[in-house]
Amino acid sequence: MDLPTHFVFGFAVGLVFFGKPEIALLIALGTLIPDLDREYWFIPKKVYAEEQIHRAGLHNVFVMALTYLVSPFFSLGVFLHSLQDSFTTVKDRGVEWFYPFTRLVKRGLYDEKGNPRPLDPKEKIYFFQEDPRGLVDKADEDLREYGCEPIPWRRVYGFGQNSQILDKSFLIGSVIIILVWFFAPGNALHLSVFAGTPIVSYYLVGFGFIPVLVLFGAGELDRRGHTPALGRFTFLKYPIFGAGILLLAIWLVLMRNSIIQNIETIFYNPAAILIAGIIIPLAILSIVKIKTRNDRTAVV
Ligand SMILES: [Zn+2]
Repeated sequence: MDLPTHFVFGFAVGLVFFGKPEIALLIALGTLIPDLDREYWFIPKKVYAEEQIHRAGLHNVFVMALTYLVSPFFSLGVFLHSLQDSFTTVKDRGVEWFYPFTRLVKRGLYDEKGNPRPLDPKEKIYFFQEDPRGLVDKADEDLREYGCEPIPWRRVYGFGQNSQILDKSFLIGSVIIILVWFFAPGNALHLSVFAGTPIVSYYLVGFGFIPVLVLFGAGELDRRGHTPALGRFTFLKYPIFGAGILLLAIWLVLMRNSIIQNIETIFYNPAAILIAGIIIPLAILSIVKIKTRNDRTAVV
């Protein structure tokens, strides 16, 4: 979906569920992160198309876990973004929630027409189906698959096309919710909370937008570097990218007190970490081992 849609949806969720503009802004900042995998990021175009990094690289549960260390609200933004993208079609490339682990499965059991594909003795785990090739070929040029073989259906897809009705409904609906939250009769308290919060409270979150926008700038320069308007500035993409990473590091340093406090809270309950970080992956691995023992084939 479009970036403004993710942004205002995250902001609206923050206002309605948490009631504080600074939290809403942190969620909205989180919604901008996943699409940083949108640009080529200096990967050759052909490799990018074959690897299908977009909607995988930063749209996954591991990025959610990583950003959770910074703040649960920041991570919630990443989650909401991926959730919204999961409503989008094959043509828009859905979301690969478990990247890079879903890539361990390299084969589909059936082709896009539902015909069984010959099994490969080297592979034991199969997806049920391949990506519908006809639809993938209608994707944006930079999202098409250029490999010879169709890629297994490892992504989550939905029914809404990018920039179409669902996308715009999310956008306009969220704007209306934000306006209601601030200005509806009886909600005057919300506006006074917003007006009464000292501007300095927004500095930390506000600073976080700078590296994200700089990184988007570098990515756009890389993506559109071949156009006459931007071609002569292409050499700037590396310094701008470097500046973005540096600013991101500075933001994390500025946020260090709340990050440390957050990490202490997370690790306060080691049982939860043990279950989430060790027992669940071990259980999944055991299921895979049992399902594929004695040369049996398993379908994901
Ligand atoms: Zn996205």
